[in-house]
Amino acid sequence: MPPFKKILIANRGEIALRILRACEAMDIRTVAVHSTVDRNLKHVGMADESVCIGPAPANLSYLNVPAIIAAMEVTDAEAVHPGYGFLAENADFAERVEESGFTFIGPRAETIRLMGDKVSAINAMRQAGVPCVPGSNGPLNDDERRTLRLASEIGYPVLIKAAAGGGGRGMRVVHSPEDLIKAVALTRQEARSGFGDDTVYMEKYLTNPRHIEIQVLADSHGNAVHLGERDCSMQRRHQKVIEEAPAPGITPEERDRIGRICTDACRRIGYLGAGTFEFLYENGEFYFIEMNTRIQVEHPVTECVTGLDLIRAQIQVAAGQALPFTQKDVVLTGHAIECRINAEDPDKFIPQPGTVDAFHAPGGPGIRIDSHIYDGYRIPPNYDSMIGKLIAHAESREAAIARMRVALDEMVLRGVVTNTALHQRLLRDSGFLEGGTNIHYLEKLLKGNG
Ligand code: ADP
Repeated sequence: MPPFKKILIANRGEIALRILRACEAMDIRTVAVHSTVDRNLKHVGMADESVCIGPAPANLSYLNVPAIIAAMEVTDAEAVHPGYGFLAENADFAERVEESGFTFIGPRAETIRLMGDKVSAINAMRQAGVPCVPGSNGPLNDDERRTLRLASEIGYPVLIKAAAGGGGRGMRVVHSPEDLIKAVALTRQEARSGFGDDTVYMEKYLTNPRHIEIQVLADSHGNAVHLGERDCSMQRRHQKVIEEAPAPGITPEERDRIGRICTDACRRIGYLGAGTFEFLYENGEFYFIEMNTRIQVEHPVTECVTGLDLIRAQIQVAAGQALPFTQKDVVLTGHAIECRINAEDPDKFIPQPGTVDAFHAPGGPGIRIDSHIYDGYRIPPNYDSMIGKLIAHAESREAAIARMRVALDEMVLRGVVTNTALHQRLLRDSGFLEGGTNIHYLEKLLKGNG
């Protein structure tokens, strides 16, 4: 018996297609919702039913809560999968879904709310025994002397961060006391206009960390497991470009230790569903920065090395089922790398929407491509520029890199410019080949002094 009869997919693009595939494999009927410019999305054509929920701007369609709830009502969907982005981390949406008698495939609304505010998330994690970045342990107030004192206690450089920040925005590095008060005011302003919440806090700015995150899954029966880590240090403007699992150089002991800290925290806060603990890793220490209460773009690398289907697990635990495996069933095999393929200018990184004239997907052993594009597909200018993810899995990191190189060379994508050349360059870059580069590596490389 499938856990649900029908699921509505409240997203678009590659992740909507990924969710649809998981539903079909579980014999669950699907409802696609889409904006007027997205009628031709691949998953819309494949879904059992589809509902147009509004015009192109996301706030009128993919963020239109009443339209999505109404679509659930008219199609008799039992549950909604939010994917990532859009409403995935919107506690009010999760609450509205549950109040309307449907199931939200994700954590409880109160958990999303707790983790959505980085200040409350850090406090909760600190209490649950998770190591955090030294910081203000709470919001900054108007007391300038207190702010200056906090910064000198933490030690410069410090980072001023918006509690409601996301997508790599709402952060400012401060190197000396002279710049501190102005930086706090500026970040506050940006936070107010960008996120509708001007709460800011302070953290030690780690100068050469790696970004390493732990994937967890928890059910409503008190079980929590971790699926190892991903290294997402290859970033530009705090946005991930390449991700891999496992993280180069992390020992099984370190993995077990930090993994256990995360699963203990999950049990402590009553976490439900899939989630990611994001850490900065410097000098052998992990420092928690935030938790993502949803499936992540880079989940396929974890699926490759664990052999598990994370979307399937999300659906099962949302339906109240127990996790079908325990920690000792989670065995990591080989190495996986993901390249995010964006339709963007390769030099200026500006999104370049257009029409895909021809697309030939690469293949072969260990190659996975998660993408919604096809010959003739028109990329609308209204949404994210990511048009697919190319994933290579092999018995070792070297072999995965070799497979990824072949796949990138084999992929034909005509009509739109993409960042494929950047990936081809990185897959031959000595620093990347060595592994374990820090979060500043890519930007330095692009500036020509890497
Ligand atoms: P967002 O929610 O916008 O993704 P995060 O808190 O996850 O914000 O941080 C995104 C990225 O910003 C991290 O991957 C890292 O590159 C950088 N960053 C965040 N906090 C710090 C810090 N304390 N020191 C150095 N870099 C940081």
